Amino acid sequence: MTIIKGISALQENVNLLKNNGKTIGFVPTMGALHDGHLSLIAASKAENDITVCSIFVNPTQFNDPKDFEKYPVTIEADIEKLELAGTNILFLPSVQEMYPDGFDKVPHYDLGFIETILEGKYRPGHFQGVCQIVHKLLKAVLPHNLYMGQKDYQQCMVINKLIQIENLGVKLHTRPTLREKDGLAMSSRNVRLNEEERKNALTIYRVLNYLKDHIEKESIAYLLDRSNLMLTDNNFRADYVSIADAETLAPVENWNGHQKIVALIAAYQNEVRLIDNMVLD
Ligand code: AMP
Repeated sequence: MTIIKGISALQENVNLLKNNGKTIGFVPTMGALHDGHLSLIAASKAENDITVCSIFVNPTQFNDPKDFEKYPVTIEADIEKLELAGTNILFLPSVQEMYPDGFDKVPHYDLGFIETILEGKYRPGHFQGVCQIVHKLLKAVLPHNLYMGQKDYQQCMVINKLIQIENLGVKLHTRPTLREKDGLAMSSRNVRLNEEERKNALTIYRVLNYLKDHIEKESIAYLLDRSNLMLTDNNFRADYVSIADAETLAPVENWNGHQKIVALIAAYQNEVRLIDNMVLD
């Protein structure tokens, strides 16, 4: 695996490969890698000649400075995992490399409705930050294929919008959420949970399954009330529990049994904010 820290060196390397007819798959991450990330690497490897992964903890997407400070960094272990997974290139830039002019003149993207709800509502500016960094990374790598996780359901929709409005000509592949044996969605933030929080954290998966099992039997208002109770009973503070249209994320109040819908949850276990979702068909 080649480790590259500069944008121009990355572009040179990738251009050479593309000129030799190689297809490029790209997996952007913030490091603290787990099997969920590695499943994206595997998907990229299966469908492309060359797989590029980036590790960059992007300051502009953290609306909470404490979350940024406490974001786990495990770079040595990450490099080992990426090597083992057969990654070809690791792009590992500094903040200075990605934001040479600081954070004042970053672009603004017109994302519309998708930015006003759920993560967009509870983490103001988060998706602008995500678009700023993913746009820069895509311009640097110019991959054929981009791999992201359904765990960040709304983020995938935002990136599809970015690809469309900036005409980036890359295909986004959204891959299923990898879970721990008991069902907890794998997340870099899970290492911050203590034993009790880790036990409580499973409630999110239980609630998603409860919603899936009962969506045909009960009203959505009732199901959301029950879900919130289950979360608070297990020491969660929920930002939201939502049942939404799977294509637009507009909230669904009455389900007609045919519309494709998704349940999405964001909730705090003390200081640690967890998100997860499940398509309810
Ligand atoms: P992050 O490092 O958290 O920014 O995540 C990098 C990529 O990995 C994003 O596309 C995430 O959606 C994806 N990802 C995170 N957790 C999982 C998971 N449990 N299963 C599959 N993909 C994931």
